[in-house]
Amino acid sequence: MSIKQRLEQIRATLPEGVSLVAVSKFHPAERVLEAYEAGQRLFGENRPQEMAAKAQQLPKDIEWHMIGHLQTNKVKMIAPFVSLIASVDSDRLIVEIEKQAAKCERVIDILLEVHVADEETKSGWDIEELRAYLTTGALDAMSHLRVRGVMTIATNTDDEAVVRRDFQTIKDIFEELKPRFGNHFDTLSIGMSDDYPIALEYGSTMVRVGTAIFGAREY
Ligand SMILES: *Cc1c(COP(=O)(O)O)cnc(C)c1O
Repeated sequence: MSIKQRLEQIRATLPEGVSLVAVSKFHPAERVLEAYEAGQRLFGENRPQEMAAKAQQLPKDIEWHMIGHLQTNKVKMIAPFVSLIASVDSDRLIVEIEKQAAKCERVIDILLEVHVADEETKSGWDIEELRAYLTTGALDAMSHLRVRGVMTIATNTDDEAVVRRDFQTIKDIFEELKPRFGNHFDTLSIGMSDDYPIALEYGSTMVRVGTAIFGAREY
């Protein structure tokens, strides 16, 4: 199946209002262009260098989402053009995004990545840490970033019950935080190639799909 056919198949399963981030990490620019020509405008990358290189080569109306762990010293590489940073998991990173966005005279959308999975290694805030951070009010002083919602990666398991538990947990966190941020807090980013149909049941508004569009990655 072509990229175009796969995109069409996936889009047909998404309810209205759910956005599809085509995760193009490790795939060459020509493949991204193939998806672009099939109408896709929203792409996700997890390495700043790779994203910056692709952004330079590819059409300017592409929206780039940073979905992978971001080191503070790499923020400036993407700040001029990134449309959303989905993997914001520390106060240091928030401070740096605010600073770099201000330099570029931009407002950058962010998602708070929350750790709900079983694996110790998964990135993201511990929910208790996040609640404590939010009570400091530090975020309220930042005028160059806008918190759009939350993101998580579910436990990597064949046990669907565990995946459902993770999605329920993040959905509850999303509902808990919503009143604090207001109307622009509208994004629940859950669901990848293997679990996005389940994520939709839990109210996902943004799925991040790589393999099911582009095929397996060669690392
Ligand atoms: C790679 C990646 C995806 C896409 O994974 P697939 O299984 O290829 O769909 C989604 N979200 C994040 C954060 C990723 O790093």
